Amino acid sequence: MPDLLELLGQRPVVCAEGYLFECERRGYLQAGAFVPEVVLDHPEVVEGLHREFVHAGSDVVEAFTYYGHREKLRVLGKEDVLEPLNRQALSIAGRVARETGTLLAGNLCNTNVYEPGPDGERRVRPVFEEQVAWAAEAGADFIIAETFGWAGEALLALEAIRAAGLPAVITFAVHRDGTLRDVTNPADACRQAEQAGASVVGLNCIRGPQTMLPLLAPIREAVSCPVAALPVPYRTTDEQPSFQSLRDPGRGGAQAFPTALDPFTCTREELGEFAAAALALGVEYLGVCCGAGPHHIRAVAEAVGRVPAASRYSPDMSKHSFLGSAPGITQSYREYAPNL
Ligand SMILES: [Zn+2]
Repeated sequence: MPDLLELLGQRPVVCAEGYLFECERRGYLQAGAFVPEVVLDHPEVVEGLHREFVHAGSDVVEAFTYYGHREKLRVLGKEDVLEPLNRQALSIAGRVARETGTLLAGNLCNTNVYEPGPDGERRVRPVFEEQVAWAAEAGADFIIAETFGWAGEALLALEAIRAAGLPAVITFAVHRDGTLRDVTNPADACRQAEQAGASVVGLNCIRGPQTMLPLLAPIREAVSCPVAALPVPYRTTDEQPSFQSLRDPGRGGAQAFPTALDPFTCTREELGEFAAAALALGVEYLGVCCGAGPHHIRAVAEAVGRVPAASRYSPDMSKHSFLGSAPGITQSYREYAPNL
């Protein structure tokens, strides 16, 4: 298996994310806290999901350590599971990556305690350093540091990854107003991360295809390294550009985030169209974040020219009993199709 940058030199790379939401939806993780204790409680669920995403076309198996860091576990009073959780997540992901010939990614994310200044830095550095050390020991091919609303916090994560000698994918979370919390233009934050040694920079989470796509061209323009784009699969709009801002008219305008987003879910075709449009802009590291299902990942993979194992089962409506046109479809049933 080539390493991440070699692979990106050959073709687009697909990376499935969104493990928190998918494990929550399946009933193995609690919304609110969003801590991945499922890697200890039900490792078979996490392993199965890794395998489904690879089957659907993910080139990367991302260890499920999102929100499995010291600060998040401190809030829950569960710091004792910090190290076992991280080691177990890396071991599960590593097994799947080795067996499927894909890349193993460690994972760092927003700590939700960072503030600019020396106190914030002192607090988050050790959070990142210990997670990077566990990922390096587990043989991670690279580390994804993701969902940062603060450029400063992302740069601290990057520093920890570079100190361990590993390639880093740095992706920022752009909320409602289109800026980061400490940098107005996300493209400037991406440039800073590239200059500080990131191998890939870009955006993940928060925004759906419609409201992430317009942010990508300025990023592509600002950097020379590969660019990443991993939207959430929800129909965000100019008025409600983040999935947290979506309000459901079917429920009296109630907030849909995080457990009532279903009516806003994008079709697989919409994710495929996003991936093709992003690729046309020169964005070559593509995926889907919170809300992703294997059908979304397959659509992204196929849109960038991949033929994953799951493509064997991609739709062929010519064989449908009413809507199809293949030989053997009963003519009178085809004629009845408009009445369906
Ligand atoms: Zn996400």
